[in-house]
Amino acid sequence: MTEVAKMLEKIEGDNVKFIRLQFSDIQGQIKNVAIPVKQAEKALTDGISFDGSSIEGFARIEESDMVLKPDMDTYALLPWRPKEARVARFICDVYLPNGKPFEGDPRYVLKKTLAEAAEMGFSFNTGPECEFFLFKMVNGEPSIEFKDHGGYFDLAPTDLAEDVRRDIVLALTDMGFDVEASHHEVAESQHEIDFKYGDALKTADNVVTFRFVTKTIALMNGLHATFMAKPVYGINGNGMHVNCSLFKEGENAFFDPEAPLQLSDTSMHFIAGVLNHSKSITRVANPTVNSYKRLVPGYEAPVYIAWSASNRTALVRVPAPRGKSTRIELRSPDPTCNPYLTFAAILAAGIEGIKKEMQPPAGAAKNIFAMSEDERTKSHIETLPCDLITANKHFIEDELICKALGPHIVEGMNNIAKLEWDSFRTAVHPWEVEQYLARY
Ligand code: GLN
Ligand code: MG
Ligand code: MG
Ligand code: MG
Repeated sequence: MTEVAKMLEKIEGDNVKFIRLQFSDIQGQIKNVAIPVKQAEKALTDGISFDGSSIEGFARIEESDMVLKPDMDTYALLPWRPKEARVARFICDVYLPNGKPFEGDPRYVLKKTLAEAAEMGFSFNTGPECEFFLFKMVNGEPSIEFKDHGGYFDLAPTDLAEDVRRDIVLALTDMGFDVEASHHEVAESQHEIDFKYGDALKTADNVVTFRFVTKTIALMNGLHATFMAKPVYGINGNGMHVNCSLFKEGENAFFDPEAPLQLSDTSMHFIAGVLNHSKSITRVANPTVNSYKRLVPGYEAPVYIAWSASNRTALVRVPAPRGKSTRIELRSPDPTCNPYLTFAAILAAGIEGIKKEMQPPAGAAKNIFAMSEDERTKSHIETLPCDLITANKHFIEDELICKALGPHIVEGMNNIAKLEWDSFRTAVHPWEVEQYLARY
């Protein structure tokens, strides 16, 4: 039996009536088209054509015909849809009518970067930790009213949102996620759900699925789930720490029992590469104007470009586990990022570090936030870009990262950053009115 025939049998056995074909735009927003089950065979063999021109930053008008080809490994039932008429989804790859992969497809960009690492014998694993807020819906609209007033690791009755979080975990588990932990986060109404690390393509797929499942289940409970980086001033924002490791021939390439801290040369080169490109990675991993309101001192988010084997104030931390679990944690990304592009950018930077055998500066042993500016300058500790337009400038000047993402995506991201920045820059914010209206 062919793969397609097996899949069709499964679809029929699951009583599926509709299939959603999903893909991501360059901002990592999930898009989908639903097809009735009778189209499944065509979708799985030839793909389904669609017009990509109306999708933000996706295709130019003159090359708008696109083909969606389902990745059969991503088959999952949407558990909240009725049992009598099941809905399944596939995540798709996007092709041009001539059969070539579409360069504006973020999934393709990640696959291409993974293939380059594979040529060196490496597979790349990521473990993202997605944080989000659960806010009340008010008059049918999302609000920033807290649902609960719990804190880090709190449980019921403080944590009223516990049931909703459990429903999210159950839905994810039904869809094949291996959820490892879920807990209340530091801020009021803030939560985190962690799923098992894995191949970067799979975990990037998981991040987009995770966001859409979380929003759906929250809404079914009358709540609004948001991944916005800093929805409320004065409390922690939402991060998406990315744990990264490279494997070679089944072994963790970051682990070396004989090396200082048991961290291999490969891991040191990787860290050096990531630190070296961290300003441009910021544009990718922190893509909104609002993302930069999270990257400020005082809220457990990184600000300074440094690494550390212990303290959490650094941009790159090395968590304690060793052996197979040896990994580095990049703490700057936030969950509004496009995970495909973010993982591709991190990997491209790390791989360059390995190729050039780059060495990171000495690890920061103490709290970087407690150092004076003078001390930081003496230790050569630089600061992450302070806003979107600054990050974007670093990004468009970074040949390596631009090459990894490809000209189509870089052009789209550059345009989006400029438009958003202009719109933000010219708006008059409540802060300005408060400061200046009475005074002048
Ligand atoms: N919310 C914090 C951030 O913005 C992280 C908090 C934590 O997981 N310790 O990155
Ligand atoms: Mg965590
Ligand atoms: Mg956390
Ligand atoms: Mg973490």
